[in-house]
Amino acid sequence: QPSLYLVPTPIGNLSEMTKRGLEILEKVDCIACEDTRNTGKLLQAYNIHKPLVSHHEHNTKESVPKIINALKEGKNVAVVSDAGYPLLSDPGSWLVKECVDQDIPVISLSGCNAALNALVASGLSTEHYLFYGFLDHKSSKRKKELESLASFPYTIIFYEAPHRIEACLQDILEVFSNRKMCLARELTKLHEEYIRGNVEEILSICSTLKGEMVLVIEGNSKKEEVDLNLAISRIEECIESGM
Ligand code: SAM
Repeated sequence: QPSLYLVPTPIGNLSEMTKRGLEILEKVDCIACEDTRNTGKLLQAYNIHKPLVSHHEHNTKESVPKIINALKEGKNVAVVSDAGYPLLSDPGSWLVKECVDQDIPVISLSGCNAALNALVASGLSTEHYLFYGFLDHKSSKRKKELESLASFPYTIIFYEAPHRIEACLQDILEVFSNRKMCLARELTKLHEEYIRGNVEEILSICSTLKGEMVLVIEGNSKKEEVDLNLAISRIEECIESGM
């Protein structure tokens, strides 16, 4: 049965392309990709020649029906993004939803994801975590998003562009206050680095940092503060009822 294959690609180190990923790219009839030049380079490195269909956040209205038609005509299609898993802070979710709605099999392969590399080496709790992806670019909206996460007790993972890292950490410090964190950059690449400390420490050096970055932030470890008014009204209720 023709299927949609979700194929992760390396986040830096080309050796992390899996054997199965390559087998699927060899097998499918076409590859839907974010940037045909980037995917072209990856395929060139492995000597794979396949028709590419451009599928990115600005052309989904045209590309999704085109890919669904190809699947309905009996073609196998692979989806890749520029790096890591498609759909994770990358295009593909509408396409998968359409396949699911139309009973077209969707098969995902194992592989690279920057968030997980950063999380497992961060030194922070991995028992429960939230992958948030990118915060809003505007500080006012970003702070609102952070406020909604401020009491979350588990580790939170953010993606951020290097030119926004300082402003983003400033907002994190303001809304979350100072917490343990790890900034993981250039994962799987030559200059891979994990900077562990607290938000204040990393904020003070982050303007000098370059490359791709993941922020892993400790969850809120403070016990919920008792709502004093609520407690008083409960006591008053008890007294009134003669307890
Ligand atoms: N789909 C990708 C994944 O599964 O990880 C994420 C794509 S998202 C558009 C790009 C963001 O991922 C970057 O801004 C950065 O936060 C993070 N990222 C990707 N590659 C990375 C790397 N090698 N080192 C650190 N962060 C990386």
